[in-house]
Amino acid sequence: MSKEQKPSEDLKPCPFCGSRVFQFGYRFYPEADSRWKNGTIVKCLGCRVDGPEYLHPSSMPKEDAEKAAEKLWNERSYEEPMLF
Ligand SMILES: [Zn+2]
Repeated sequence: MSKEQKPSEDLKPCPFCGSRVFQFGYRFYPEADSRWKNGTIVKCLGCRVDGPEYLHPSSMPKEDAEKAAEKLWNERSYEEPMLF
């Protein structure tokens, strides 16, 4: 399996506060089925809102999970704007 390495796609600004400063959050669910034990999320550092969580097995490369979490963030941020 060879995959083209690309830089992460840019994250859209936070729909809540407009920040472009993010970090990844990682969660672990020991009780979950082995396919869904790990969760990766994009977290906004402006208002601390979490993006949608991407659930994946522990065997998935971290960077793949991060890319998937970024994709979820980008899809969420404008398709379902949730404004205060
Ligand atoms: Zn924010």
